[in-house]
Amino acid sequence: MTSSFRVGDLEIKGYSDGILKTSLNMILNMERGQSEGLVGGTDNGWLFIPVNNFVFERDGKIVMIDAGSGHDMQPTLGKLPENLRAGGIDPKAVDVIVLTHIHPDHANGLIDADGAAIYRNAEILVHAQEYDFWMGEETGREPDKLKAVRARNKRNMKPYVERVRRMREGEEVLGCTPVLAAGHSPGHTCWRVMSGRDSFLAWGDIVHLSAIQISHPDTTLSYDLDGEMARKSRHRILDMVANEKIVVAGAHVNAPGFGHVVRKNGTYAFENA
Ligand SMILES: [Zn+2]
Repeated sequence: MTSSFRVGDLEIKGYSDGILKTSLNMILNMERGQSEGLVGGTDNGWLFIPVNNFVFERDGKIVMIDAGSGHDMQPTLGKLPENLRAGGIDPKAVDVIVLTHIHPDHANGLIDADGAAIYRNAEILVHAQEYDFWMGEETGREPDKLKAVRARNKRNMKPYVERVRRMREGEEVLGCTPVLAAGHSPGHTCWRVMSGRDSFLAWGDIVHLSAIQISHPDTTLSYDLDGEMARKSRHRILDMVANEKIVVAGAHVNAPGFGHVVRKNGTYAFENA
């Protein structure tokens, strides 16, 4: 299913990569009874969340935010290329891919089963802090899990390394400006996309479990690289989008993945646009 929203002159279309099976076990600082209540109950802690990607055209270029989960994560994922085609977009025609961070459900979809680029002609925009961490050598004693993610990320980025643009705050390409919001990953980035005086914010994984972390922003996840930093980033971004009333496009908020954050009962709530 494709749906869209407008920001200034831009029409932003949401494209699903599928549904990610995840678990409440990853929540570090909330009682299970409370988290179960917030998500409306689970099957033994398992729950399903959407993986949303966003596409718009500007100056004759097709820009896509995040690249989906790819062929080998879960059978309910990796649907982005076929959904793009169904929407009339050949993956080869994508000119620019903007990455919020290099985690498997956002970047594993860059390559096919043979390790070749699916988006053959795309340039990648990614924050320098995120790219340099994952593409660099391991530092000191890293847990095996981190080493494995780094190896996977290098594989995913490999066919693209000649066309990666390492971005920093203040830089802009096709209206896209990075807003560093680190913690979930070392250079996790929200992207502000301007169109005239309007803008929207693609906020990546500022919330991974939207039913919990929007109303309870202090809740962190076992795989946040730095939970305390992620918590502060989440508060800062929620405060910003609520104050500015800008549209949010979220990787894991209720499909189709865009809406507004409002203040409610001393915290925040999400309203689909
Ligand atoms: Zn994610």
